[in-house]
Amino acid sequence: MLVVMQSDATQGQIDAVCDAIRDMGFQPVPMPGAQRTAVGLIGNDGQVDGSHISGMAGVGQVLYVSKPYKQVSREWRPENTVVEIAPGVAFGGAAVPVIAGPCSVESEAQILASARAVRAAGASALRGGAFKPRSSPYSFQGMGLEGLKLLAKAREETGLAVVTEAMDEEGAHLVAEWADCVQIGARNMQNFSLLKVVGRLGKPVLLKRGMSATIQELLLAAEYVLAAGNPNVILCERGVRGFDTATRNLFDVSAIPLVHKLSHLPIVADPSHGVGVREHVPSMARAAVAAGADGLIIEVHPNPDRAMSDGAQTLFVEQFERLMGEVGTIAAAIGRSVAPAPPAPQR
Ligand code: PEP
Ligand code: MN
Repeated sequence: MLVVMQSDATQGQIDAVCDAIRDMGFQPVPMPGAQRTAVGLIGNDGQVDGSHISGMAGVGQVLYVSKPYKQVSREWRPENTVVEIAPGVAFGGAAVPVIAGPCSVESEAQILASARAVRAAGASALRGGAFKPRSSPYSFQGMGLEGLKLLAKAREETGLAVVTEAMDEEGAHLVAEWADCVQIGARNMQNFSLLKVVGRLGKPVLLKRGMSATIQELLLAAEYVLAAGNPNVILCERGVRGFDTATRNLFDVSAIPLVHKLSHLPIVADPSHGVGVREHVPSMARAAVAAGADGLIIEVHPNPDRAMSDGAQTLFVEQFERLMGEVGTIAAAIGRSVAPAPPAPQR
């Protein structure tokens, strides 16, 4: 059950609702939001009777949420949430923005060339990791702060929004300072202390599905960010681990309509990590848009064979250009469009 307080409810009225929930033998979880506070009720196994709470002072509405996640659920908010990461770059509306760029930021020349190429092809945002979660400690770990500065430079020149990963609290603060959207990678989807940190930061979050996470676990991870006060979460399907090594992961296209049914949050698709094989990335990107993805995140590099990470799944620029045309056609077929690249900055 969720008790949605009126926007002008006082702290005393919120406390009184918490006391009433405790008196019923359950635990109240106050969830302050930008506009209003909600008080979740946990500890119940099935529906409880909250009729006496709906009459209390300061109470707006009593909602019965059947799922373990509350604020991210469709029951909590029936309309789609639109997350804008930079002016004009919004996920969850009719337009489908494309985030593209290399797996890792490698040098100034590499990230600037990538940014120019993906912008010319119609991308809205630039990706590129400065902090890389690598399976081996001996693999390239990313350029760190220097990489963030190069991404900011690319944004300054091209106008592209910047999406990049943070792996820990210190990195999250740096990414929030230098980029437009904080990516939480698959390996950190259930790093609950990091989720609380990005919940407090206030920057939009791109939350990737863990490689063995259920949809419910993904939505509960997003709930951590919302519960900490940040409503701007974009979910991301990036494949789960399957038994077949023919592809890197098993790209779960069904996650897209499922998430849309269960949650109001936008979901983007990452077919690059989802399939892990360059040749099959475009078909999975097309499938994701057809399934209703609210955005794409695609690895593109000016010279994928020289990439310092994930070269095998990274598109050549020409492949990406072709793909942008194809996804435009597919988006139009379902009444959507690929978002146009943001305007180039005035110089
Ligand atoms: C990435 O985006 O480069 C990345 C490491 O993704 P994931 O967390 O999905 O593996
Ligand atoms: Mn990668």
